[in-house]
Amino acid sequence: MSVSAELPCLTFVANGIAGLRPYEPGMPIDELRRQMGVDDVVKLASNENPSGPSPRVIDAVRSYINESSLALYPDGGGFRLKRKLAEFHDIEPERITLGNGSNDILEFVSRVFLAPGRIAMFSAYAFAVYPIVTQAQGARALVIEARSAHDSMTLGHDLAAFSRALDEHEGVSVVFIANPNNPTGTWVQASDLEAFIDRVPAQTIVVLDEAYYEYQDPALRVDSRRLMEQFPNLVVTRTFSKAYGLAGLRVGYSLSSPVVADLFNRVRQPFNMNSIALFAADVALEDQDHVRRSVALNASEKTRLRNQLVQLGIRLLPSQTNFLTAGFGRDCSALHRALLERGIIVRPMGSYGLPEYLRITVGTVRQNDRFLEALTAVLDA
Ligand SMILES: *Cc1c(COP(=O)(O)O)cnc(C)c1O
Repeated sequence: MSVSAELPCLTFVANGIAGLRPYEPGMPIDELRRQMGVDDVVKLASNENPSGPSPRVIDAVRSYINESSLALYPDGGGFRLKRKLAEFHDIEPERITLGNGSNDILEFVSRVFLAPGRIAMFSAYAFAVYPIVTQAQGARALVIEARSAHDSMTLGHDLAAFSRALDEHEGVSVVFIANPNNPTGTWVQASDLEAFIDRVPAQTIVVLDEAYYEYQDPALRVDSRRLMEQFPNLVVTRTFSKAYGLAGLRVGYSLSSPVVADLFNRVRQPFNMNSIALFAADVALEDQDHVRRSVALNASEKTRLRNQLVQLGIRLLPSQTNFLTAGFGRDCSALHRALLERGIIVRPMGSYGLPEYLRITVGTVRQNDRFLEALTAVLDA
């Protein structure tokens, strides 16, 4: 769409921006309270950790605010957190780039490697941020058809199709792979992914988005850290927004070759991480017990939720994440709306091209009970 006819000041809007559709976040709790006048709102829409952050993080942030000056700029290099992460992953700090959420990193990737004439490749039904950062750079998106509804990994990434597309197209500078993937919950086999990365031309950057890494069964995980050392074109992203329960503070990071990290640092805002977030992530990393407890709660509640939903005749995609993507076999707008009226926020999948699906974050026992109760009532009505 051309916007320049409307206002002269829009004449020089950059390539790709005019037609860009903004990311649609899950509805905030307060907004639903206002809209529907319901008090007891359960939000299962954005894959946040229902247990919140580690209590140690909350204590540490409190004392940090009391003892440190918020008037001072944060450490722009994130020295301490990078050193901590380097130890945690047993790699050089030069391989780490800190982001204001891992979304920030996805933007670094696009600003460094995407431009008009370049192609970014990703699966249908992959993370909504990939098409946004691609289009914002005026690059072309090559969307690879997902695996079929009859495949055991329904709507998952089809790496064989990725490989074929790479053979057919020149100028693919970035391949985005979310593993496990959002919004489907699906994953790729570690051996398939390794074979795929090995086949990707050395000049093409592969972004392996591991936002749900902690939730994945260790037996299914890709040894991304090792692969990253082996392949200089591999960028692995991780986040504190999910299992660490710090989505509100915005902390993510990437592991990559030092030369790629150096490029990211050139486009990174000097103070992209705030001081509280830097400090909180440092403490969060130390409390791996909290991560384990969060993952265990997710596993048991996901199983319970899955069993109950299946009993209601609802089709679920396979999931190695902290959410379930549920197919209802019909447009879910009315269902979504009816749940909102009962104070339940889940994520409609229409903007992902899956109008017959809802994505439900696995909550606490109480939140899941509330959701199941509301869903049963709505389906009976
Ligand atoms: C939630 C999520 C992220 C995390 O984004 P942050 O900016 O780190 O909060 C990244 N990738 C995928 C696929 C996600 O679902």
